[in-house]
Amino acid sequence: MTIAGSVVGCTEKKISAQDGPIRVQIPSLSDKTYSMQEVELLTITDLSRLEGTAAQFFMEPTSQDGEIVGKAPAVRFMKSKEGVYVAMDALSLQLVTLYYQFERLMFLDQQIGVATVNIWPRKVAINARFSSEDGSLLQNNALYSSAVDTYLFVPFTSEDLPLMVNSGVIGHEHFHSIFNQIVMRPLGDRYPKSDLEDLYLPILLRGLNEGMADVWGWIFSKDSNFVGRSLPSEKLSRRLDFDVLSMPTRKELSSLIAHVPPEYEVSISYKLGNKLARSIYGLSKVMLNQPGMTEDKVRIEMGKALVLTLSELRTFLDQKKPEDVMAPAQILFWFYKSLSLTTTAECEYFQNMVKDPDLVTAFSCKK
Ligand SMILES: [Zn+2]
Repeated sequence: MTIAGSVVGCTEKKISAQDGPIRVQIPSLSDKTYSMQEVELLTITDLSRLEGTAAQFFMEPTSQDGEIVGKAPAVRFMKSKEGVYVAMDALSLQLVTLYYQFERLMFLDQQIGVATVNIWPRKVAINARFSSEDGSLLQNNALYSSAVDTYLFVPFTSEDLPLMVNSGVIGHEHFHSIFNQIVMRPLGDRYPKSDLEDLYLPILLRGLNEGMADVWGWIFSKDSNFVGRSLPSEKLSRRLDFDVLSMPTRKELSSLIAHVPPEYEVSISYKLGNKLARSIYGLSKVMLNQPGMTEDKVRIEMGKALVLTLSELRTFLDQKKPEDVMAPAQILFWFYKSLSLTTTAECEYFQNMVKDPDLVTAFSCKK
């Protein structure tokens, strides 16, 4: 591409998508690898500050009275002879990519019917200084904070794919906001206070949240190995395209929780979440065998089913008596019930994965 000499700065007329789609060059996933591609931004109202209806950025943010505060970014572009905007530095490139992905997430949420559960533009904090449990500043991570309803990207120092460019990671974090809005926020004070003595439910819920977030990350990015692209140490443990033989029963999860030291509680959640994500991803392969089924149809169908599953989960937690113990595989049952396109093959795929007797019976698969 030829780069003409025009540099886009803050002093010029605002470049807005209201005057037509803004063509930009960004790294994007295609054919299993990330490469530079030309895409169109449709919701930007001021390109030089990356303002628009999809995302609002807070640079070097701080939190004041429960609100996130920070400067708007000042991004720099050059316009090519062909009219394509090309970011002039690495941060500008990452930010415009991130904006583009939030725009696509907004359209996906609209397609799935979940766009109104969140407030748009979504708040995104860049280079957030976030202390980890040992007091050191967190690096190479992305998180969602329900307290300030904001996605936090902490400094990324690795040579691998930056998290701000990784569409699967962005989709994963976005799911946490949907989980929060549909499940946790309506429950308010009723959770987790009632369960402080018992770690079972918090560990289970965290695992389900992480697992479904990985499914959402895949639905959004079509990438079954998105975590490993940015964090190679997690490649094997987080990829979705491995078979799962079974989900742990209530008893197995309880005894695991009772026997591991507290510092492993988070890893129990992630392992459980990964089993859930792999189970659902595996089901997508079974669904693809249905006549006329395409990967895109399966992804949207699964996104809708995940949202319905969250409502089932909230209702269960809302009405739960102290003696009710939720089996991890219960989520598979709700998910299966929420799908509109299933055959005996899908039913049996999940039935073979559950071991709690009541759930095996619940999956009454037609022969
Ligand atoms: Zn997560």
